Amino acid sequence: MARQAGSGNSDADVIVVGAGPAGSTAAAYLARAGLDVLLLEKTTFPREKVCGDGLTPRGIKQLIDLGIDTSAEAGWLHNRGLRVVGGGVTIELDWPDLASFPPYGAVRQRQDFDEMLARHAEKAGARLLERTTVTGAITEPRTGRVTGVNGRQGPDKQPVSYRAPITLACDGVSARLALSLGLEKREDRPMGVGVRRYYTTPRTNDEYLESHVEIWDHADPQDPKLLPGYGWIFGMGDGTSNVGLGILSTSSAYGKTDYRALLRSWLDGTPEQWGFREANATGKIAGAALPMSFNRTPHYRAGLLLVGDAGGMVNPFNGEGIAYAMESARLAAECTVQAMARPGSARERALHRYPTALREELGGYFRMGNVFSRLIGHPAVMRAGIRHALPRETLMRFMLKLLANLYDKREGDTMDRVIAAMTRFTPSV
Ligand SMILES: Cc1cc2nc3c(=O)[nH]c(=O)nc-3n(C[C@H](O)[C@H](O)[C@H](O)COP(=O)(O)OP(=O)(O)OC[C@H]3O[C@@H](n4cnc5c(N)ncnc54)[C@H](O)[C@@H]3O)c2cc1C
Repeated sequence: MARQAGSGNSDADVIVVGAGPAGSTAAAYLARAGLDVLLLEKTTFPREKVCGDGLTPRGIKQLIDLGIDTSAEAGWLHNRGLRVVGGGVTIELDWPDLASFPPYGAVRQRQDFDEMLARHAEKAGARLLERTTVTGAITEPRTGRVTGVNGRQGPDKQPVSYRAPITLACDGVSARLALSLGLEKREDRPMGVGVRRYYTTPRTNDEYLESHVEIWDHADPQDPKLLPGYGWIFGMGDGTSNVGLGILSTSSAYGKTDYRALLRSWLDGTPEQWGFREANATGKIAGAALPMSFNRTPHYRAGLLLVGDAGGMVNPFNGEGIAYAMESARLAAECTVQAMARPGSARERALHRYPTALREELGGYFRMGNVFSRLIGHPAVMRAGIRHALPRETLMRFMLKLLANLYDKREGDTMDRVIAAMTRFTPSV
């Protein structure tokens, strides 16, 4: 049910731009706290989003926090862990048994997942306006403060503008709103590139997310290169698998690689009976960028908060972004709710808490991820990692906790305590 428009000159208390996981999560929390929320989305649901469709327990936790029923009975396809393949070794690692996270992940097509979250936000009271493309921020000329957004709406792309005291940029990697304020992406942070395709396959039912860590670029047959990244095979349980690969920007091959050709050549090398061949493809190869390690900052400036991919929140260790989009959305909503209950400078202090909270939560971990991504950008390091780590199960259990950011900060085991100390003592990015 729609709420009344915001008071005074405003169209709402808060404008949220983009109804992906970040925007819909933030809108739901904000509306639940009693604020009038306008959620602006350029597409119409259901719509496709290029993704691996994989959720680790970190993502599931966010869904549970939001009040979504993630049970198998509610239609979720659960998985129990990660299967890692490389260097002639295959190892199956169950998700760790933790106090902070559930013991299962899931896969769900983004086409369906994103609509479910957007409808959830609507049910909480947010006003969703689809087919509304935001083109830039409206700023107060004297102070530069963001007071709303301009955009185009409907089939005729009619110009529209909406005003609110606080705006959340949840518009994904394109970050159009941030760019309209000159907030460019940072070159000192890694990026990823991912491509994926769906195939009809007998491997559609799989209890594990599968990750292939040896991706070779054979473009120069004389000099094949081991790339920093991995290929994934995620069974969707509907007769298909989501198959793709993600590569980091830290190798010399970055920008020179044909990622679609790379996906085809990797899949041509997989067993014929898996079915990852042209004839079984159910759509085209699609690709997109993964902005990592807070690659767009500041996360708060003059009435505008950057959330999810718009603020570069993808985990540089494993390319996971949904959980971080939802976590940052929750933090942004908390700070916004506090801000809206305060006047003047006290409001600003509440909003400035957002980047601090992000740094406290993820800053040290993302900095370690930067170092990791630079290291594996060297093929020799990547090769040594595969050769020495994969056959060692205890080490791989530790790596799973570290790479998927799945550990207990306080009450955990020895591995958890080591990771907690490492993230605590590593300065934030
Ligand atoms: C190939 C690939 C595979 C991936 N696999 C995984 C995975 O398996 N698991 C995982 O956790 N993460 C994965 N990710 C990362 C994940 O997709 C993102 O991190 C996540 O979608 C970020 O959510 P978001 O809400 O910040 O942005 P988005 O999901 O991009 O949502 C942004 C929303 O804003 C809308 N929008 C954009 N511009 C405007 C505008 N100007 N006006 C209005 N609306 C606008 C868009 O239509 C969209 O609905 C993958 C990414 C890629 C590229």
